[in-house]
Amino acid sequence: MIKVLFYAYSLGITSSREIEDHLRRDAAFMFLAAMQKPDYRTICLFRTKYLDCVVSLFRQILQVCDEMDMVGMVNVSIDGTKIKANASRKRSKDAEQIDKEIKRWMETAERADSEEDDLYGDGSPFILPPELVDRRTREEKIEEALRRVRELENAKKKLDESGLKTINMTDPDARMMKSGRLIRPCYNGQLAVDSKCQVIVACDLTTCEVDYDQLVPMVEQIEMNLGELPISISADSGYASYDNLEYLPGREILGLIPDQMLKIEEAGKNKYFSRNKFVYDASLDRYTCPGGKLLTHQNRQKMKDGAFTEKYMAKDSDCAGCGLKSKCTKAKKRFVSRNPREHLFEEMRERLKTPLGKALYKLRKITVEPVNGNIKYNKGFSEFSLRGLSKTRIELVMMSIVHNIRKIHDVLNDLIPLTA
Ligand code: SF4
Repeated sequence: MIKVLFYAYSLGITSSREIEDHLRRDAAFMFLAAMQKPDYRTICLFRTKYLDCVVSLFRQILQVCDEMDMVGMVNVSIDGTKIKANASRKRSKDAEQIDKEIKRWMETAERADSEEDDLYGDGSPFILPPELVDRRTREEKIEEALRRVRELENAKKKLDESGLKTINMTDPDARMMKSGRLIRPCYNGQLAVDSKCQVIVACDLTTCEVDYDQLVPMVEQIEMNLGELPISISADSGYASYDNLEYLPGREILGLIPDQMLKIEEAGKNKYFSRNKFVYDASLDRYTCPGGKLLTHQNRQKMKDGAFTEKYMAKDSDCAGCGLKSKCTKAKKRFVSRNPREHLFEEMRERLKTPLGKALYKLRKITVEPVNGNIKYNKGFSEFSLRGLSKTRIELVMMSIVHNIRKIHDVLNDLIPLTA
């Protein structure tokens, strides 16, 4: 069964019904299954039942890659990709919509019940002529309506507990996420790819749309899978957070992660001078603005996480008579805020300017991004076949396994030189 599933996923066939079909007419599938023909329910049950086994197989195959010297651990790139859930956007509902639907189904049940009373009165369907007996259909209608009500009530309970605005009725674990230009029910797939042969060294699936909380779990998974940590890790600005930038050096890993503002500044999208135009002097705890004036410490503001951000301001008189004011602020005077851990972002910006920093960060584009693209667009894995976080996670792990097996094949056939 595992052989059949690996082969099917390597061809981008993930539907258990499609796999069943191939087992009946495709010689390669027949060979792998030794002519056995499990039906789609068995295939589906097998794949969902053995999550631990699939995760362990991922690790075993990764270790084979490592033994074949395919994993360099010089640089690992991490990236997230939104994969559509097996659910329609229209089935995502908020609390009000759920209440309305519960009401509608209750009315349906009541209507079906009263239709029965109207039809039979005090009699019984068993004494009516056969052509008038439609009891089964009505019972089914009531049962269906009550089942829907139960489903909706469960969904509402989950929605209340999660604190989210909407929940998807088809796949309650899926979350509305921005995927390309669309907002639809998705999961966030995380891949960590080693730059030597594009081997996936860690993979996971999350219901969290943002990436920055995923860096630490991915690094820890790499260590668990391979027993060591990479020398450097590159990730895009979605992973930039003070916690992550503090965590990586703590694990003796060289991080290459630009912050969100750097991206905006490089794109020249700032209306006013960005903060990097203000030079901070740590010894005197003050900034110098592009107009050469000083911004001194004024006060501090408490943030959501309990930490304080420091505020620096120029003098009213300096800004009032400044020729650069239209490019600096529309307020009376300009202020700049500084996080106590701001130096982490500043050091990272300096690192990304060095030739080594640039070269390592660039590796992302030829490491993790093509792997994401290959899985989603070449293999057609742009939507899950299964529902629920634990089942969809198996599918992502399966895709990662077959990707690594493909890499082993390529190395064995000299399609990838191991000197890379
Ligand atoms: S507006 Fe104020 S802070 Fe901005 S450049 Fe002029 S003096 Fe400096």
